[in-house]
Amino acid sequence: MTTTQSRRQFLQYSSALAISQLPWLSGCASKAPESSLGVDPKAWKELAKHLNGPLLRPGDCHFNKIAATWNLRYAKVQKPAGIARCKNADDVRVSLQWAQEHKLPLVARSGGHSYSGYSTTPGLMIDLSLQDSLVYDESTGTAMVGAGARNATLYADLPAKQRSVTHGRCKEVGVGGLVLGGGIGFNMRLHGLLIDQLVQTDVMLANGETRRCNAHENAELFWACRGGGGGNFGINTSFTFQTFPVGYVTFFDITWTEKIDEILPAALDLLPTMPDRLGCKLSVNTKTPGVLTINLLGQLVGPKDEFEKRIGSLFRLASPSKQKVEHMPYWDAQKELSEDGRPEFSHERSRYALGDISAAGSRAIIKHMRSWPGTHDQATWKMFLAGEAVNKVRPTDTAYWHRNASMVTSVELNWKPADSDAVLAANEAWLTRFHDDMAQYTSRQCYQNFIDNSQHNYLRAYYGGNLERLVEVKRAVDPKNIFHYPQSIPLKL
Ligand SMILES: Cc1cc2nc3c(=O)[nH]c(=O)nc-3n(C[C@H](O)[C@H](O)[C@H](O)COP(=O)(O)OP(=O)(O)OC[C@H]3O[C@@H](n4cnc5c(N)ncnc54)[C@H](O)[C@@H]3O)c2cc1C
Repeated sequence: MTTTQSRRQFLQYSSALAISQLPWLSGCASKAPESSLGVDPKAWKELAKHLNGPLLRPGDCHFNKIAATWNLRYAKVQKPAGIARCKNADDVRVSLQWAQEHKLPLVARSGGHSYSGYSTTPGLMIDLSLQDSLVYDESTGTAMVGAGARNATLYADLPAKQRSVTHGRCKEVGVGGLVLGGGIGFNMRLHGLLIDQLVQTDVMLANGETRRCNAHENAELFWACRGGGGGNFGINTSFTFQTFPVGYVTFFDITWTEKIDEILPAALDLLPTMPDRLGCKLSVNTKTPGVLTINLLGQLVGPKDEFEKRIGSLFRLASPSKQKVEHMPYWDAQKELSEDGRPEFSHERSRYALGDISAAGSRAIIKHMRSWPGTHDQATWKMFLAGEAVNKVRPTDTAYWHRNASMVTSVELNWKPADSDAVLAANEAWLTRFHDDMAQYTSRQCYQNFIDNSQHNYLRAYYGGNLERLVEVKRAVDPKNIFHYPQSIPLKL
């Protein structure tokens, strides 16, 4: 087993620090009123006795920190009655059985980054974050990661092996939630989605049985775990990925503040023609209503001069106000590309583009971005370039339906506590108008990992033509619907 303990502890410490600076989230506060949902205190003690990891109750030190959602929008909405900090699969089994015995709702929590706060519950939170191991097998090049590993675990342990998978940029996002809904990242055009590298996963069902899932064993559940979304079938207690070797890449981070109306359509035309060796995010950003910037961030597996040649037409349109373009080892580039992903107030709404975004679409993006009403934070329209290796897998081969897309696009709105209800209402109305308008230039498919509690017809938007088959799997493995949340896969349509 490889670990980079001090680095990981530092990352855990920094995110805890970020959370503890927020007044209503600070841990070890005066004892909060207990919410036991009618469960005898003796029963909680009994649960604690059978766990290898700690059981936290409201008022306990660290309870607020562990209960916190990444999206601060949901920070005050629900607090669990208890958190079982599961050290291993046995703890998960004990927690699952105990919650059902006491008729408490339950939920699995890996990295806590669900956009819509779906990894919290008024009942028992089954927290997997202590299981953040990574075991690398030299003979096969596979990496088995624990149920609670985060992107940070990959960042800490894979560089020494000069290998990677398709990971995200945000270090605190859980691998569990990331992979179950697809897993997009800068490597996806060359190597596919994270689910395309998943070769095996163990799933604990509501009755405590573990199903080993791969191409040969429990193949239907394995199919569902590759894009069917977290929290629907059981609790995945481990994930094994086929890694790939990495060498050097050209990292780029370029910002334009001028000729926005010319740069955006030109970039949207140019980027989809790039080779699969290029992965990028293009964003239009605003912090001051009416004032826009454009940023292009990503990596090319290839030399710097190749990148500059390929992107030259954009440089000729307008000089960037800021740029960093450098050829460097892959994992050094990830240090430039990654972010901590601290908790924030956010509402993000996605749409897959199935082909080019037309000039009219580009004009619509700029028009909406310029009419942003403003908050104390920011708004962003962005697109992650998709296609290539992602689309070489058929839509029905895994539960991830969106194999015909050229881009994953989204609009993200951020705000701060200082923003009034009226400001928020105006911003939400703007977000809805923008998101609705973009359907004509993109599609009605939405990314299940950018899960959005205001999306209409969300099951079809996330799962397309795979929905009926996912419902069949759900009926087979979780007939009592123990694993559920407002947008979970139902037992019938
Ligand atoms: C800052 C930020 C950056 C992001 N970057 C990317 C990116 O680069 N690429 C990308 O594809 N997505 C990205 N996302 C979206 C991300 O993939 C999803 O939010 C994902 O669900 C987060 O997983 P988590 O484990 O952190 O979240 P959690 O909130 O812990 O879990 C999400 C859902 O999965 C369930 N779940 C978690 N673990 C398990 C498990 N082991 N077994 C069964 N169910 C489980 C939960 O119950 C919940 O329903 C990002 C999100 C944020 C907030």
